[in-house]
Amino acid sequence: MLNGRQHTLAKEITLKSIGLHTGRKISMKVLPADADAGITFIRKNGENSFATKSAYDAVTATTLATTIGADGASVSTVEHLMSAFFGLGIDNAVVELTGPEVPIMDGSAQEFVALLKSVGLATQTRKKFLVVTAPVSVEEGDGSATLLPSDRFELTYSIDFAHPSIGKQSYHVIFSQENYEKEIAPARTFGFLHDVERLQAVGLALGGSLANAVVLDENKVINKEGLRFSNEFVRHKILDAIGDLSLLGTPIQGHLVAHKSGHRLNNLLLRELVARKNCWHLDG
Ligand SMILES: [Zn+2]
Repeated sequence: MLNGRQHTLAKEITLKSIGLHTGRKISMKVLPADADAGITFIRKNGENSFATKSAYDAVTATTLATTIGADGASVSTVEHLMSAFFGLGIDNAVVELTGPEVPIMDGSAQEFVALLKSVGLATQTRKKFLVVTAPVSVEEGDGSATLLPSDRFELTYSIDFAHPSIGKQSYHVIFSQENYEKEIAPARTFGFLHDVERLQAVGLALGGSLANAVVLDENKVINKEGLRFSNEFVRHKILDAIGDLSLLGTPIQGHLVAHKSGHRLNNLLLRELVARKNCWHLDG
């Protein structure tokens, strides 16, 4: 059985980096928050500010990245930061942004992890867990995502891309902060050169570059430094899934088994889970 306390940051942090979609510099501040507050995103627009609680039912778009929004304001590309929060056991924080998306950094969660760890954490009240007691599953096309009962949080993910550098990859990780930092956080997002060119032609992914993604042409990875892991691709999908599932707001005790899943299916799984009240209980 999982147990533990909630955490927030001991002190605020600030960073400036570019957004993947706008290609503009964005300033981001992460501040401590009260127990049970969850993660809140605040967009500062001159005098105005809009707050959005990060929650599975606030997800408004899942193309390319996970976007959350309410009342006409939205924040995009939240999943890598959310993943880093979850990886470090940070339950409560306020994220202030001067632009419409979370900075992309190096395309992984490793820089967020290093920065958040540098200020340390503050321990708060007891944490609740959602314990999966019966399988919950969603499917779409040839993708599927299932939560199975387990005495811990673990993820098994498989992908299948008809590309010589990717192909079939499968990876299993038992979640712990140590495993997350070593095996998952450094895995970068990836994209295909023809998609990047197509997106940039219509004004999207303007900040996308070899500095923040693994990019593949028809035959190979074109980044000079190569891959950080031979199966970096499937590891990044696990990084994304951890961020996407963290939008539930309550950590899950269960085993995610996902095949060709993505932000959209991960979010549909959470919605199905919440609706199937006979398949889980809260503990802690
Ligand atoms: Zn990602």
